[in-house]
Amino acid sequence: MRRTFTGSHLNDVVRLDNHYPYTITNVHHGERVLSLNLCPNYPFVTDIRRIYISESRSCDQLKKQVIDELRIRNKSPCDVFLSFLDDNGTWNGINDAYSKLSLFASNIHDNDYIAAHFRYVQQPLSIDSQAVLSFRLCRNTRLKHSFIDMYIRATVTLSYLKAIAIDKLNIYTKPNETVTLLLNKDNNDLWIAFDSKVEDCTLEELEFRNNSYICVDIKSITYLPGVRGLRNTGNTCFMNSALQCLSNVPQLTEYFLTSTDISHTRIACVYSELIKALWSEGSLSLALDTFTLVIQADLPRFDNYKQHDAQEFMNYLINILHTELASQSTIITDLFYGKIRSTVHCLTCKSNESTTEVVSFLPLPLTNRKKKQRLFEINHVKLNGDRQSCIIETDSNGTVSTLLHSFIDYCINENQDDNDIPDLESLIVAKMNGNDVKSQYSLDESLKSVVDNQISVFEVPLMISKHDRMYTPCLFLDNDSHCYFRPPIYLVTPKSNCYGQDVAYQIQKIIKHIVSVTGERPTDVFWTSYSSNYQRHLVSSMNENLYSLKSIIIETSHLCAKAYTSKSKQSSASNTSISQELTLSNLMDDFLKEADLDGQYYCSKCKLQTAAKQKSELCSPLPPIIIIQLKRFTYDIYSSDKIDTFIDYPVNNFDLGQYEKDAIYDLISVINHMGTLSSGHYLTYSKNHRTQKWYSFNDEVIREIKDNDEGQLITKNAYVLVYMRQKPQLEEQLISFT
Ligand SMILES: [Zn+2]
Repeated sequence: MRRTFTGSHLNDVVRLDNHYPYTITNVHHGERVLSLNLCPNYPFVTDIRRIYISESRSCDQLKKQVIDELRIRNKSPCDVFLSFLDDNGTWNGINDAYSKLSLFASNIHDNDYIAAHFRYVQQPLSIDSQAVLSFRLCRNTRLKHSFIDMYIRATVTLSYLKAIAIDKLNIYTKPNETVTLLLNKDNNDLWIAFDSKVEDCTLEELEFRNNSYICVDIKSITYLPGVRGLRNTGNTCFMNSALQCLSNVPQLTEYFLTSTDISHTRIACVYSELIKALWSEGSLSLALDTFTLVIQADLPRFDNYKQHDAQEFMNYLINILHTELASQSTIITDLFYGKIRSTVHCLTCKSNESTTEVVSFLPLPLTNRKKKQRLFEINHVKLNGDRQSCIIETDSNGTVSTLLHSFIDYCINENQDDNDIPDLESLIVAKMNGNDVKSQYSLDESLKSVVDNQISVFEVPLMISKHDRMYTPCLFLDNDSHCYFRPPIYLVTPKSNCYGQDVAYQIQKIIKHIVSVTGERPTDVFWTSYSSNYQRHLVSSMNENLYSLKSIIIETSHLCAKAYTSKSKQSSASNTSISQELTLSNLMDDFLKEADLDGQYYCSKCKLQTAAKQKSELCSPLPPIIIIQLKRFTYDIYSSDKIDTFIDYPVNNFDLGQYEKDAIYDLISVINHMGTLSSGHYLTYSKNHRTQKWYSFNDEVIREIKDNDEGQLITKNAYVLVYMRQKPQLEEQLISFT
């Protein structure tokens, strides 16, 4: 006789042990979910764990779920047997012959007690004695005199031997315990431990010998809060990696750990349960059964037998959490939602039309990057004499003028102050030999003839009447080494009939500058001419026509030159070394820069189909958490493809100051994708905000990333990056968290 059927309908409220109710609805019509009591310590009914399974599933499927729940996945299902406890308190085996029957047909009912156990060979008498090994099984490595004799085929696996040894010793291991088998081959003090990598090797392969001593060592695993694995049940790594990523957003997790009034929600409720489980100290990795069931009920396309996009899932989850919480809270909008303003500029009537879009992540394309870009290392000599080196990326098919436009764009990005932005008119590009000017480039010169690391761009004063003025370099010569010790400064001089006094005022200013830096006056000032090789003193040419003036040379002592070079070091921009690597900033710039709109645009102002340009910008305030998707997957009608390009991204101090003042972000998570979209694998690197340590979450396997090694955190597999804004802005905006 069986108990009366008491299966929960899916619409019923199921109570978990920790008394957080949640509801499951909208699964297939009429289907029931059974809540079963799994007894991990068979044959004892202790440490019961609840598992949930639809009654239409088969006994085989139940067995798989039990194996998974008990972390005995390395066991072949045919080595594992299920039993249920009958009304008389006796365990009854479920016959494998009926394993394809549904639980309903097998008389498995709600609230039944079930357990898993292993079959083993009691007596090896019926098989070839040569293939049988005998072992001396010890309770303790120090007590070899007391042992149990064991006989077992040499063709069984190590995990099988372990299961039998545990059974023989009457040890009941808990699911959170790992068992290591120890072997003593030669009856000495040397015990060899076999780690889990060789679980599936046979005793033959492991060269176990007759009459060896064996023993088992049992250790329990403990996870730190937030550092718990998620088991992969099918192709669920996309879900696991997205969830670990969100779990490590501190503000969101603190919200769900402390939220009390979300019982009316469905997904937020199970998500909260999951976060509470992940952030409790515990000894088990978690399975997402309940969570997946609820997600799938809501969104059948995220079934766990196919590989899905982790970013798509994460974004879906964020948005559905927002929808569910909207009535009472906007934690999601507060944390993740930002705005992008997109402005279309009509090329016909020059009018602008702007739209603003709310986004929960930034999708950065990797494809629209022009291949024909080239990097130039430029020595930028400012009007005030300061020098800075910078890397400019520009179209390699362009001219010097193209390079200067890119340079001005660069200056605009680097400087907040408009006064520091040079004008195209006031720039001279020169080919350098050290600090000496070899030649000047004209604006229409092709970049193909320009060597990338010997270019200086000089800012010069704007000239009012260009036609009778020209620029003449003033050079700085060390009179001992006869080297130029800094790049020239350009003077504005009359094109013809230049007298010494025409340059005197500008020279005086430069001399003052040298004295202020070195405390020493230059030894002499000369001028040179194109028409002769002689240098002449400027002082004696004050009222003279500096005929065919080539340059002015300020000469100093060696000490003065040395003092000058040591005190006015050239400053360099953030990326001084030339590298062709793409950076996250490059991608951001690409995404936000003005670009031609494909095809025709209908302008509402001039009522025409016309050509237009579009520019996007991030609106202030930027969200505290920015999720960036590196769009590695491209789709067209015929195929999908993955772009494997390495993108360099900062771990700390990702500066978005150009979009909002003091907007500095730190990386807190990376979702990595390996392989192809259809047969790939996801894993997540996240920073635990309590320990401040980085971990790699690979389903249930968690590894600490030692010393928060940036080299390990920046990989070519990075697919989703999560950045968190640095305090103090956070403290003002958000609920405090510890
Ligand atoms: Zn128009």
